[in-house]
Amino acid sequence: TVVDHSNRRDHQSLIAADARHVLHPWADLSALGQAGSLVISEAGGVRVKDADGRSYLDAIGGMWCMTLGYGREELAEAMAEQARQMAYYTPFGDITSEPATRLAEMLAELAPGDINRVHFTTGGSTAVESAIRTAHYFFAAQGRPEKFHVLSRINAYHGGTYLTQSLSGKAADRTHFHYEADFVHHLSSPGYDPDISEISAEERLRQLLDEMEAEIARIGAENIACFIAEPILASGGVLTPPEGYQKATLDLCRKHDILYISDEVVTGFGRLGHFFASEVRFGLAPDMIITAKGLTSGYQPLGAVLISDRISDAISAAAPKDKPVFSNGFTYSGHPVACATAIANIEIMQREDICGHVREVGPYFIDRLRALTDKSIVYTVRGDHLMACVECWTGEEAGPTARNMALAQRVDQYCQEAGLLVRPYENLCILSPPLVITREDIDRIVAILGAALDRATQDLRAGTIG
Ligand code: PLP
Repeated sequence: TVVDHSNRRDHQSLIAADARHVLHPWADLSALGQAGSLVISEAGGVRVKDADGRSYLDAIGGMWCMTLGYGREELAEAMAEQARQMAYYTPFGDITSEPATRLAEMLAELAPGDINRVHFTTGGSTAVESAIRTAHYFFAAQGRPEKFHVLSRINAYHGGTYLTQSLSGKAADRTHFHYEADFVHHLSSPGYDPDISEISAEERLRQLLDEMEAEIARIGAENIACFIAEPILASGGVLTPPEGYQKATLDLCRKHDILYISDEVVTGFGRLGHFFASEVRFGLAPDMIITAKGLTSGYQPLGAVLISDRISDAISAAAPKDKPVFSNGFTYSGHPVACATAIANIEIMQREDICGHVREVGPYFIDRLRALTDKSIVYTVRGDHLMACVECWTGEEAGPTARNMALAQRVDQYCQEAGLLVRPYENLCILSPPLVITREDIDRIVAILGAALDRATQDLRAGTIG
């Protein structure tokens, strides 16, 4: 590749400014102020370019959110048009904007069951927080304020705010911050991988359900407001529960009058081949669904809690006469520009049958990746349609050991050198490419990843890992 040195100087000064001034989400504090970050400056289709002009195939889709690909003129136009017409107005109380109203109608149409009401937020975390508060309100307004405990799972990821980080259960994220522990409870991680598990899926399912029943009994169903669950745990390592788990946990919730919140921030908007996976894939009719990310194809920050009529009718009927307000929301809830983008996004997804495309290429993606399990440093490959991960190991102990993590980091580095971005997390390489990915680019991803795994295997043999 030809390197443009004037640009390169720019990149270096940007890197220096970043190192000096920015505290990134999930920054490595041991390197704060020393190493700057890769500055991504341009993007088109499924590729991004850094400030030096180096191109990378984006196999992480931004952050699970880039679905229609970069540089979509129609999305840019929808944003510009709305910004010209009316960039902002308050969503509070009884004022709204046209895009928010139209989008709510579209989402109610797409959502399963009796989900017909939309509470807009600014992203996934604010939507999860809002759903938990809605569950609290639901029971408190009906005279049951003590029913406010929340069940979550180990390895879940629900966001970066105080409460959503407390709901999340990734061990690596638990640091010196403070976490809510009085009313948040974590069940075991439900991930089940038949390739590496020593027990059957049925046995694992039984264990998980027994544990959930026992935890409900311990806390007391009369004290538990809701259970929150990603149908497939995304950032925790693409963990798929055993067959039947989602529906069986919903049944347990129904039995104990516990609300079920399905966090579809990643699994929704096409990543599993459907606008929402809860019902079509997992037989779930949740009380609330969380959506964000792919809702705007990552072009604008936006989130929403989709609420069933059962909940919204009850909170309206039970609201106190002297204080009937639903005091939850944000200045930028359902921002008009973001909602206009989401409308254009849904229109494109429907017109181009993006979900159908994912149902077609998704299994191919997983099959091609699974062929990498032949490599000695691949412990397992798991995934579903366009969410996947490759788990690395040195052949000694499995899991996020220091050496396995160093090995995965090396794989990541070699991918990057060869023009492919995968998301490193512990000893995993996580992949969630834009939904418009073609078979040819899937082949490219697998070829580069395969070569990176081979190079890292040589390093392991040469003793240069960890
Ligand atoms: N829920 C899930 C399942 C997520 O993966 C994420 C983000 O990765 C969130 C919630 C939080 O969304 P946001 O980062 O938009 O606040």
